[in-house]
Amino acid sequence: MRRLPFIAGNWKMNKTVGEALELIRELKVAIAHVKEVEVAVAPPFTALYAVHKELEGTSIRLAAQNLYWEERGAFTGEVSPLMLKEVGCQYVIIGHSERRQFFGESDETVNRKIKAALAQGLKLIFCVGETLKDREEAKTFSVVERQIEGGLRGLGDKELRNMVIAYEPIWAIGTGKTATPEQAEEVHRFIRGKMDKLHSRGVSEEIRIQYGGSVTPENIKGLMNQPNIDGALVGGASLKAESFSKIVRFKEM
Ligand code: PEP
Repeated sequence: MRRLPFIAGNWKMNKTVGEALELIRELKVAIAHVKEVEVAVAPPFTALYAVHKELEGTSIRLAAQNLYWEERGAFTGEVSPLMLKEVGCQYVIIGHSERRQFFGESDETVNRKIKAALAQGLKLIFCVGETLKDREEAKTFSVVERQIEGGLRGLGDKELRNMVIAYEPIWAIGTGKTATPEQAEEVHRFIRGKMDKLHSRGVSEEIRIQYGGSVTPENIKGLMNQPNIDGALVGGASLKAESFSKIVRFKEM
């Protein structure tokens, strides 16, 4: 089954509005000719609207890095799905390991966020992945399975069609240690198999699974050559147009 490759850049807590615009202007030029790869950027909340305006007329998608599940109300410091739609987001990243690790997100809150995003018509990138300790204790599959079952509780095939899963082993995020293509493929295959058990064959074959964790222009090709790796969620290397555009242009290598 042919799945459209999807490369997304997670800028995390980086880039002022001015810096974000500078990066996006360079990126637009560097990838203008690229076809048959879906591309998204996830700037911090403060830069979303400005980047949205700058992206008009391009096919680059805008993603937020988080949301809260309520529509409005007394939730100081939170941002709702409706607000993200209004500033031009098509995607939102949910359940990133940094949110789980530093901000107490659980499979249950991830599930609530996923449902809220979908209810507002946002697509999403749902992140899962094990710690180094989990891997060393041979718990990778059980941890990823628990995250998938918990995060996707109550969702059907229709909802899954608006979702991308990102497998991001925590030990590979921001560490310069990438999973080998074979290590990543093994987990991607497991995730697709799990989707097959929980959902219809059509959905498990259609759903795109990105790899995330120290992706660079040097290692992207090997990862994308794997049959179950359909793209990448890129942190550090998405902060420069030069490296991110090379990743997007992996087919030219
Ligand atoms: C990420 O945070 O989603 C990520 C993959 O970061 P990095 O590419 O910097 O490892």
